Amino acid sequence: MHNSPNVYDAEPIPEQARIEIDRMLNSGDLFRYTAPENAPVTLLEQEFAALMGSRYALAVSSCSAALFLSLKALDLPRDARVLIPSFTFAAVPSSVVHADCVPVLCEVGENYRIDIKDFEARLDDNISAVIISHMRGHTSDMDAIMSLCNTRDIPVIEDAAHSLGTTWSGKKIGTIGRIGCFSFQSYKMVNAGEGGILITDDADLVAQAVIMSGAYEHNWAKHMTGRDSALEASFARWQNQLPLYNLRMGNLSAAIIRPQLGELARRVRDGRSNHDYVATRLNSSAWLQVPEKLSREERAPDSIQFNLVGVSDEETRAFAAAASERGVKVQVFGLSADNARAFWNWKFLPGGTPDLPATRAMLKRACDTRLPARLTRQELDIIADALIAAAEDVMQPARAYGT
Ligand SMILES: *Cc1c(COP(=O)(O)O)cnc(C)c1O
Repeated sequence: MHNSPNVYDAEPIPEQARIEIDRMLNSGDLFRYTAPENAPVTLLEQEFAALMGSRYALAVSSCSAALFLSLKALDLPRDARVLIPSFTFAAVPSSVVHADCVPVLCEVGENYRIDIKDFEARLDDNISAVIISHMRGHTSDMDAIMSLCNTRDIPVIEDAAHSLGTTWSGKKIGTIGRIGCFSFQSYKMVNAGEGGILITDDADLVAQAVIMSGAYEHNWAKHMTGRDSALEASFARWQNQLPLYNLRMGNLSAAIIRPQLGELARRVRDGRSNHDYVATRLNSSAWLQVPEKLSREERAPDSIQFNLVGVSDEETRAFAAAASERGVKVQVFGLSADNARAFWNWKFLPGGTPDLPATRAMLKRACDTRLPARLTRQELDIIADALIAAAEDVMQPARAYGT
């Protein structure tokens, strides 16, 4: 059965990008600060800020760079403790280490969302900042998180790398914390190969991030759109005071991203309806369970996560092999070798691997399958059929003998 769809190819890049790139190849104008105004990167920042309803945007080389600059802009002391969820991509604790801070991990539940009780308990533990990673676009209880952090005056950075288009109580994910960071890596909702952007309403934070991203000398002036005395004062204040890390985005990336922003609403709508269709089908199997989203959350998925229920490690591995045999690749976050989303593989964590039994148990049964928005109903059925049949392949024979 190998008529299964390719879930790794992205959508074609809109034709407008080709025209713009051709223009740039002729002029050689690839650096964001060469043009006196309206460079593609600058236009992207303006368009993205408008799309998100935020005051400022800064485009950079990756979401990891955006997270790093966010931490640096918060001006945390060396070895400051930054609370992050234990279910995230290795890039998140890496950005904390890169910023000379210490990641502190909290538990994540079977529904892939932060365990608020554990979060609250660790928040009192000398935490200077929080990164909420909306892993695979799953939104934790942002009302509880913001209220706990606001009470203690702890800044929240949202890692919305994989959440572009998601909302919480109607608010866009990435606009709830002090800073929101997004990725344009190829497996995310908008694909430039690599790239990232941060958004904030805070002039002093963005001024620092702009300078540190590599706006040397007075290039910060190209980030001013119209009069903004708060921003101008912050640039004046930070001039020559900060190191330049050179994490800028180039014009080619911006040209690839800009025409995709208009596709976002459709991708979100199709991704959500595809996900919900496959979720309903998978939930019909006794062995597969797709956790419910939280009620205030409207998701923008391009993949599906589900848990295997009442099975052993061995059966979980056999299920992934059977699905692969049927043409659908499933990764089990906690069982595939050297997985970058399993916290015990982050050997670079200062202080060694923390003890997080709930997250560990979840990761060993949590399966992940890509489900890009462009798939047709027929292709979704091929994927759902294969996953349901793979569960039956592995689990039914074992159960038939009364084990
Ligand atoms: C992809 C991703 C990142 C890293 O993004 P890059 O742009 O590749 O640096 C961080 N966090 C999450 C949740 C991601 O999905």
